[in-house]
Amino acid sequence: MANSEHTFVAIKPDGVQRNLVGETIKHFEQKGFCLIAMKLIQASEDFLKEHYIDLKDHPFFASLVKYMQSGPVVAMVRKGLNVVKTGQVMLRETNSADSKPGTIHGDFCIQVGRNIIHGSDSVESAEKEIDLWFQPEERVDYKSCAQNWIYECQVMREQTSVLCLFHSLSYP
Ligand code: UDP
Ligand code: MG
Repeated sequence: MANSEHTFVAIKPDGVQRNLVGETIKHFEQKGFCLIAMKLIQASEDFLKEHYIDLKDHPFFASLVKYMQSGPVVAMVRKGLNVVKTGQVMLRETNSADSKPGTIHGDFCIQVGRNIIHGSDSVESAEKEIDLWFQPEERVDYKSCAQNWIYECQVMREQTSVLCLFHSLSYP
């Protein structure tokens, strides 16, 4: 367990067109997940088919690809402790009708087919999606000063969980 876990997040074309880019980024920024990469991209049909390959047999696959291709997407990578799972909680549920207020889907969406934001659903998919959307040179790793105030344990900030046990008595 370390704060170096990465997830892929994409603000979908409806999120961009509805001017919800700032609002959705704000959720991740305020939470404390570190920004590693970000770009505005008009994805091609083939690219989106690759991104959603696991859903290719679903009846909504063609309309999903068309929707995602209907305008630019803001793609980003966020880093932090349990960022994949927590990112999903921040978005949930897939169907906006089942989503609670306070979540992005709950606050900004009505239908499943227009749900403004995508987040990786597992660490494994996050790795695949990040590799698909970002070249290594597009990802910037840096020391964020805010991390010192977001994580309680000094060593969590330094991404070495084992040492955390030894340091817990001496911190701060
Ligand atoms: N989707 C849809 N109809 C459905 C289920 C999903 O249009 O019945 C779309 C929706 O935009 C969703 C995306 O397909 O976000 C990917 O589906 P998935 O099951 O992976 O949900 P997610 O991971 O986005 O929660
Ligand atoms: Mg999914």
